[in-house]
Amino acid sequence: MTSLDGPYHNLRVAEVIEETSDSKSFVFEVPPELAERFSYRSGQFLTFRVEVDGHRIVRCYSLASAPDLDARPKVTIKRVDEGRVSNWMNDHVVVGTTLEVMHPAGHFCLRESDSPILLFGGGSGITPIISIIKTALKTTSRPVKLLYANRNDQSIIFKEELTTLFSQYPDRLELVHRLDDVHGFVDASFVVQEVGPRTDADFYICGPGPFMDVVENALAGLHVDPSQIFIERFESPEGPISSEAVDTSGGARVTIKLDGNETEVEVGEGETILAAARRVGLEAPFACEEAYCGCCMAKVVEGDVEMLTNDGGIDQRQIDQGWVLTCQGIVKGRARIEYPD
Ligand SMILES: Cc1cc2nc3c(=O)[nH]c(=O)nc-3n(C[C@H](O)[C@H](O)[C@H](O)COP(=O)(O)OP(=O)(O)OC[C@H]3O[C@@H](n4cnc5c(N)ncnc54)[C@H](O)[C@@H]3O)c2cc1C
Repeated sequence: MTSLDGPYHNLRVAEVIEETSDSKSFVFEVPPELAERFSYRSGQFLTFRVEVDGHRIVRCYSLASAPDLDARPKVTIKRVDEGRVSNWMNDHVVVGTTLEVMHPAGHFCLRESDSPILLFGGGSGITPIISIIKTALKTTSRPVKLLYANRNDQSIIFKEELTTLFSQYPDRLELVHRLDDVHGFVDASFVVQEVGPRTDADFYICGPGPFMDVVENALAGLHVDPSQIFIERFESPEGPISSEAVDTSGGARVTIKLDGNETEVEVGEGETILAAARRVGLEAPFACEEAYCGCCMAKVVEGDVEMLTNDGGIDQRQIDQGWVLTCQGIVKGRARIEYPD
C-alpha cells in the first residue's frame, strides 16, 4: 500500500550494513512526500510487514538512528534462532529492496529532565538505546552512562560507533561493556555497583527478558522511583489465545477480511476485535496491544466500531477514513472490517 492514508508505505532500502555475524542494519530512503509521516523520536520503532513462506508477518524494529544526527532512518536486526522475520530480513533484504513499513511509534523516548541518564542494553536491545544516547549527547548536557551486556566481544553491535561517541564526549559518556564469557551474566550486585549514588537518574532498559528483570529488580532494591524507569520489551507476538470464558450471547458479530479470506466471528461483551480474531485462530497482526504502535489497524467497511482508546497508533485522518485499532475496537452490533491488503 502506498497511499498516504493506509498504514503501510513502501520504503526502499538504501544501505545494508553488516554489523556482526548475526545482525545487519538497514537504512531507508524516505521520499519527500513521506518525510513528515516518518519523522520520529529517538527510541521509537518501525513496524514491518513481510511475506515469509507465503505468510504475511508483522514485526517491530527499533530505530537505531537518531533524528538529530542521522540523515536517514536505520533499523538493526539480529537473527533469532528459528525466527521467521529476523532471518528473512538478514538473508533476503538488499540495497534496492522495497519493504512495507508503518509510521514510527512507541514511548521509549528521552523525557525532558536534567537528571543523569543510565542505560542498560543487552544484545540487540542496544538499538533504541544508542538512538537515545545520540540524541541525549547532542541535544542535552546530561551525563550519560551505558551498561552494555553481550555474549562475547564479537557480538557487540555498534562497538565502533560507541567508541567514536565516547571519543567525542569523553566527559559526558561513560561506557561499560559487560561480556558473558568474561564476566558472567549481569547480576544485582553489578547493577548496584554501576548505579552507585546516581539513584536520581532516568533509567532506560532494553534487552533479553531475564536481563531486564535483573536490572529492574535491582533498581527496585535501590528504591528507584518507577517513574524514573523506562523499559522496552522486544517480545514476539504469541499464538492464539484461549477460547474459554468469553460470553458471546450478546449477539455482536464481526466479519473479518484478512489475507483475502473472510471469517465471521462472534464477539463477546467488551471483547476487542483483535482478541476475538485471535480467539478463533486468525493470525491478525498486532504488537503493543496498547493503542500506540498501529500494527493492528484495519478498516471498518460496514457497521459501527468504537475504540476504547487511541494512544497515537492512528491519526485523525485515518480515523476519518474508517480505520480503527483492532486491539481497541469494540463492535456495536454487527460490523465488517478489512485488514490492509
Ligand atoms: C517494540 C519492539 C522493538 C523491537 N526492536 C528490535 C530491534 O531493534 N532489533 C531486533 O533484532 N529485534 C527487535 N524486536 C524483536 C522483533 O520484533 C522480533 O520479535 C524478533 O526479530 C523475532 O522475530 P522473528 O519473526 O524472527 O521470530 P519468530 O518467528 O517470532 O520466533 C521467535 C522465537 O519463537 C520461536 N517460535 C516461533 N514460532 C514458534 C512456534 N510455533 N512454537 C514455538 N516456538 C516458536 C522461534 O524458535 C524463535 O525462537 C523488537 C520488538 C518490539 C516489540
